[in-house]
Amino acid sequence: MKRYFVLAFLICLTFITQAQTSPIRVIMIGAHPDDCDQDGGGTAILLSKLGYAVKFVSVTNGDAGHQEIGGGMLAKRRLAEAKEAGKRFGVEYDVLDNHDGELIPSLDVRLQVIRKIREWNADIVIAPRPNDYHPDHRYTGVLVQDAAYMVAVPNVVPHVPPLKKNPVFLYFQDFFQRPNPFRPDIAVDISAVFLQKIHALDAHESQVYEWLPWIGGYLDQVPKEIAKREQWLATNRTIRITPEVRTSLEKWYGKEHAAQVQHAEGFEICEYGNQPSEADIRKMFPMLKKK
Ligand SMILES: [Zn+2]
Repeated sequence: MKRYFVLAFLICLTFITQAQTSPIRVIMIGAHPDDCDQDGGGTAILLSKLGYAVKFVSVTNGDAGHQEIGGGMLAKRRLAEAKEAGKRFGVEYDVLDNHDGELIPSLDVRLQVIRKIREWNADIVIAPRPNDYHPDHRYTGVLVQDAAYMVAVPNVVPHVPPLKKNPVFLYFQDFFQRPNPFRPDIAVDISAVFLQKIHALDAHESQVYEWLPWIGGYLDQVPKEIAKREQWLATNRTIRITPEVRTSLEKWYGKEHAAQVQHAEGFEICEYGNQPSEADIRKMFPMLKKK
């Protein structure tokens, strides 16, 4: 009898320990294979190094954004690039099979998004705000907002268990001013992993060295020599640190450290989903430390 009691006690202890040590689960959702990478890649590297489970999801398959190829061939290339980038970031990378440039916030895609958030059992969901020049970015923002409550409703997508706890929803940083500018509630110093982020972005060859330079009118600036590309990419893909982001860095890291930060990623807390306190945020993002 005593032996059974000890056994039961040990089983309980294992469960408790597992619950305490199970990693925080983060899902970043972007419109295209390279969006999460650009907007949250540095933070993803830092979290993945802490043992967090991080997933990137691209809601479209990227089959439109290129000047020379398109359709299935391009979608396949984008998927291969995303998988390689995922390895370099230390995250899982999923690409949903919706057409690029044609995304609308339909019920079908909303259910796809709900399924992804639930299957990942996410504690934190990060997505764009619904104000953006690109309709796919805008509607990805709407789709994730539309999922923010439904992830906990059992009769919606009934075959995938609902989340027991509503996650914290965050927005990626953007520079749009209307209807209201981005508010950096959280700012993460990514200086130490910036070059790793660039190395991971380098995997998106068809985007960062072909499509974006072509549509941006600077294709002639892309170095012909492969060895020089990442160095060029580092100058091309830097996110400007706004005064608001600098102020947020001061709050989280202290003034002295904030003044030295070279590269940062900002996030805004969405008013849907779980509302974290400052202590919750420090727990979820342990790299935010006064230095
Ligand atoms: Zn995009």
